[in-house]
Amino acid sequence: MTTGSERPPASGLRIGVMGGGQLARMLGLAGIPLGFRFLFLDPAPDAGAAATGELLQAGFDDAEAALELGRRVDVATFDFENVPERSARALEEICALYPPSNALGASQDRLFEKDLLVRLGARVPSYHAVSSRTDLLEGLDKLGYPAVMKTRRFGYDGKGQVMLRDAEDLERAWQQLGDSKLILESFVPFESECSLIGVRARDGETRFWPLTRNVHADGILTLSLPGGFGADLQTEAEGIMTRLMDHLAYTGVLTMEFFLRDGDLLFNEFAPRVHNSGHWTIDGAECSQFENHLRAISGLPLGATAMTSPSLMFNWIGVMPPLARALEIPGLHWHDYGKQARPGRKIGHATLTAPSPGELRSRAERLGGIAGGDFPALLNVLFSQCPAP
Ligand code: AMP
Repeated sequence: MTTGSERPPASGLRIGVMGGGQLARMLGLAGIPLGFRFLFLDPAPDAGAAATGELLQAGFDDAEAALELGRRVDVATFDFENVPERSARALEEICALYPPSNALGASQDRLFEKDLLVRLGARVPSYHAVSSRTDLLEGLDKLGYPAVMKTRRFGYDGKGQVMLRDAEDLERAWQQLGDSKLILESFVPFESECSLIGVRARDGETRFWPLTRNVHADGILTLSLPGGFGADLQTEAEGIMTRLMDHLAYTGVLTMEFFLRDGDLLFNEFAPRVHNSGHWTIDGAECSQFENHLRAISGLPLGATAMTSPSLMFNWIGVMPPLARALEIPGLHWHDYGKQARPGRKIGHATLTAPSPGELRSRAERLGGIAGGDFPALLNVLFSQCPAP
């Protein structure tokens, strides 16, 4: 006999997600009102996304578990780009997977990623492939100091990279990373960093949120402020992303990060997924990156990407300010990921919205004062990069 609780709901596309971190959790939070049900695959027993769906606890390289996920859902996606391509391909054999596994392959290796973007006509910082000490010396001859050496694979949030200021840094850098395949890049003395987030539907329609200015501390994103770039830069960035999306026959949300130098966009990297610099879209855009990703992968019409009010996102890294004090600020939207606090770990974020850029700044300074630490100084850095409101 089937009891009521075992019967599946009348509506409800089943979405499978490789990964159960905060991005998966926010996909879940965006999908529940659409009637979607979620199954997350993640090795962590306390994966934060489990608050919004069912958890299949298994390793990402467990192809059997990937197949089980595929059998139990209508469409699958992922919340991080280091999903082993083998698992993604296994999944793709038995269910619809968006974005497609070739997008993972293209983004997992910084060298191939840059080669591809150059072929697609993007400007990039000068770079040189390094597999030996001789390659490194050759690269430094070509690019000069300062330079940044990065592992080609598995780097994120500034991990797997080291700065070479002069010849004295060479030995230390080689000892730190010499075991991996590497890429050497010119250090870009950028005026600012920005990202573009866009979405492509199954039928090829694309939409883009406004370019977003990002400030990092120790390689980790700390503040994101959308808008304030000219129409030309927006159009140029959208053109590059459209070429990449078309090349990959992409479906879903995609993110590109750029350095802005002398008015030029220099491509840094892309992520075939929703992105931390797009969290403001939950509270500050007509349709969030999370909802639009779900709409795209499930074949539903895309939502509007316009900004609904000036917005600014604060990332909570390792520590969160007191909730009650923060909530006294008007236009404050709080997002706690339900994670254990640890230094360097993203445990939540807040987005401030305001009726005007000037009011946004004064609310941001108030929140920066409550959060303390580096926030007041980082806000000054951010606002010094912006045209006056
Ligand atoms: P990535 O993991 O490549 O996104 O690097 C993390 C952060 O390190 C970037 O957001 C920049 O702040 C900084 N960074 C990385 N590569 C460069 C570069 N070639 N020149 C200057 N800063 C860089």
